[in-house]
Amino acid sequence: MTSRRTQRSHEIMHRSRQLFPGGVNSPVRAFGGVGGEPFVVERGKGARIWDADGNEYLDYVLSWGPLVLGHAPRPVLEAVDRVMQQGTSFGIPTGLEVQLAERVIERMPHLEMLRFVSSGTEATMSAVRVARAKTGRDFILKFDGCYHGHADSFLVRAGSGVATLGLPNSPGVPAMLAALTLTAPFNDLEATRAIARAQAPTLAAIIVEPVCGNCGYIPPEPGFLEGLRELADETGAVLIFDEVMTGFRIAYGGAVEAFGVTPDLTTFGKVIGGGLPVAAYGGRAEIMKQVAPVGSVYQAGTLSGNPLAMAAGIATLDALTPSVHRGIVQQTERLVAGLSAIAAQRGVPFTAGHTGSMWGFFFLGRNPRNYGEAKAADVALFRRFFHAALDRGVYLAPSQFEAAFMSSAHGAHEVNETLDRLDQALAAALA
Ligand code: PLP
Repeated sequence: MTSRRTQRSHEIMHRSRQLFPGGVNSPVRAFGGVGGEPFVVERGKGARIWDADGNEYLDYVLSWGPLVLGHAPRPVLEAVDRVMQQGTSFGIPTGLEVQLAERVIERMPHLEMLRFVSSGTEATMSAVRVARAKTGRDFILKFDGCYHGHADSFLVRAGSGVATLGLPNSPGVPAMLAALTLTAPFNDLEATRAIARAQAPTLAAIIVEPVCGNCGYIPPEPGFLEGLRELADETGAVLIFDEVMTGFRIAYGGAVEAFGVTPDLTTFGKVIGGGLPVAAYGGRAEIMKQVAPVGSVYQAGTLSGNPLAMAAGIATLDALTPSVHRGIVQQTERLVAGLSAIAAQRGVPFTAGHTGSMWGFFFLGRNPRNYGEAKAADVALFRRFFHAALDRGVYLAPSQFEAAFMSSAHGAHEVNETLDRLDQALAAALA
């Protein structure tokens, strides 16, 4: 039983359930992984959000990652407002697309060419199409518990809501297409090698989240990403880093800077649009020139490169300087260390970690190497902890199998406040 006021959220959710499946427009929002009813948000500022009943929460979901500057940051609001006065969409080139692309390439010089799209799903499915065209092969290899959006080819042992809801595969995906998606356990290079080598003549792509965030936070072990690079070279497959979640979070220059491994194609989403719908895929010009209209791989979008979304992305990346990034990482480190200390003091099996400003924890006595191992976490304790945290004004991702995020608005004060609240929440969850 919650101690918060929930009447207005409840009324809106009641109407929502008549209108949308599960009352939501994306499944993880329905609290399926923790039970109970989601709150309905009304507004956000900095590190905090307020719901329809006026309850305040310190937010560690941050719209599932994009809000690296926190809610309603002034530079983004001003940029969007300025651009909006000139019109909201044209469907012809604007200079803003060039400005955002140049900022991305400045941080990640291994990208020579990009294409902007509007969601991470579009980016990953387009990258796979390009990889299939380049290699003339059909199979792809992904990792159990990694989520690359909801395109048909990825809904095989996927993470995020698919993992939270315990769905191994989605009905509606043609079996013949699902059969082209091979899966291996994350961080298991031996198993991955065996699968990739067996399929080598028909393997188009290996796609991976460089730090897995969609079955909880699981970093790559040293040598894993290097091994994938070697395997892609050996088999002739295209290596795709899906940086929709990790991009502009795990390091200023993304996975290439963090791990020193360069993929053939990279996909982005979330932070690149600063809270508006932007995603992108890119890589070496030689590969990207296969995309229409230069090449014959077709991919298009009415709202791709939308000026408001480009403006939000530009303002976000401009504000996210290396020193701002370092500050966010510092607070992430404090939060993770503080939370680990709280759990240790209470004698709870617990593991937590972070790469840059992406973090996560499991109620588990050791670091899981992959989704298979993560499933041993104490999900019942997580649920109690999640609700106890919510009642004390901390909004964590509503599933044990999701990563958490930080923003530049989460300063030392907010982190201390969070740790106090989470200490009480853990005590309540264990009572
Ligand atoms: N790839 C990764 C790694 C993601 O985390 C997500 C979404 O969470 C996607 C792709 C899909 O992005 P979108 O929800 O924008 O379609």
